[in-house]
Amino acid sequence: MKNLFKMVFFLPRLIFRIIWHLFWGLVKTALVIAIILFALAYYANHSGSDIAQSFSGMMDNVAAFFADSKSDDLQNKLANLTTDDFTYYSGARWTQNSATVYIETDVPALVSAYEAALANWNATGAFTFTIVTDPETADIIATDYSDSSSQAAGVAETEVNAVTNHINHVDVKLNTYYLLNDSYGYTMERITHTAEHELGHAIGLDHDDHQTSVMQSSGSYYGIQEADILAVQQLYAD
Ligand SMILES: [Zn+2]
Repeated sequence: MKNLFKMVFFLPRLIFRIIWHLFWGLVKTALVIAIILFALAYYANHSGSDIAQSFSGMMDNVAAFFADSKSDDLQNKLANLTTDDFTYYSGARWTQNSATVYIETDVPALVSAYEAALANWNATGAFTFTIVTDPETADIIATDYSDSSSQAAGVAETEVNAVTNHINHVDVKLNTYYLLNDSYGYTMERITHTAEHELGHAIGLDHDDHQTSVMQSSGSYYGIQEADILAVQQLYAD
């Protein structure tokens, strides 16, 4: 009788054991993978080596890929907080500290703002923009758009090679809906700051809200600062 009892319960117990082992196996595997990813991410963010920089760029691309589907909702929620839309690719930069620009806008105030912003960046000596007359040969297209749905004064759309982490192309856009609307009170100086800010993204700079910087995420109250020149010099140090 006892043996029969044992035999009846042998199979369920065996199945339970197998499931239990599989479950713990999965938990352990997930834990090991998480630790490895965490260590790699930590290394990538704290090391200046090329491999680490590429890995960091790849992680950002992966994060951007998953964030993409949610970005519309998120942008609407963040609309009141941001001055521009851009995705930062950590460590991404041009191969050299120079790029060609085609000014595509016909709006006189924006042409002036772009020209002044390009001249101001060139005056730093840290990065050189060259204005070209053929959009096909331009690394950067500087243009305008009008969008009342986001509260962004500008956009920098950067294409990055995920393997080399080098910037391939950037579309910089200034939002005429806000910049040229009197009720938003943008002076010519702040429009130029906005152009300098978007070109800063085009160079490879992130937002910087820790100090006086043209890369502050809101306000466009500052032009190019010493801190911004240092940031570009560091980005293109090797
Ligand atoms: Zn920005």
